[in-house]
Order: sequence, then structure tokens, then C-alpha cells
Amino acid sequence: MPDLPPDPHRLPPPGDWFASDAAHHLLDRPKFCPRCAAALDRGLVSEWWSGGDRVFLTWCAECHWTGNVVLFDKAVIEEPEH
Ligand SMILES: [Zn+2]
Repeated sequence: MPDLPPDPHRLPPPGDWFASDAAHHLLDRPKFCPRCAAALDRGLVSEWWSGGDRVFLTWCAECHWTGNVVLFDKAVIEEPEH
């Protein structure tokens, strides 16, 4: 297993086993806080997978909000009768 670069914004060399996942993370990770809209450059965005969902654990350095942002292909939503 190759060593990952210490800077999470620097992509591993193309062809490395993690290169595709790292590139998708860089493209798709939340860029702004869902609560205060500050840039998350100084915050934390860590990603894991739950089935087909991509879950981004997000922490904002500006307002200290912490939560998950989830990307999914399909959603099942139930709405009560009005
Ligand atoms: Zn915030």
C-alpha cells in the first residue's frame, strides 16, 4: 500500500490504488458549511461509504458545526397525507 500524501488536497499519483477515490473526494466534498456558509478550507471533511451512499463527516472551523453530509443516488421519502 503506498503512503498517502500528508496534504489531503494533494492527489496521489494517477494509477495509485486510491487515486480515483481521492479525486472524487476532492471534487464532491462539501466546500461550504451547511450552517453558516463559511468555506471549509480550515475545517474538516472526512469521507466514508455506507452501502451506495457517500458520507462526509464535516466540521466547520468558523461556527463549529459538526454533522454528516450524505450523497446518494436514490432517496425514499414518505410524506403524510395532508
Ligand atoms: Zn459554519
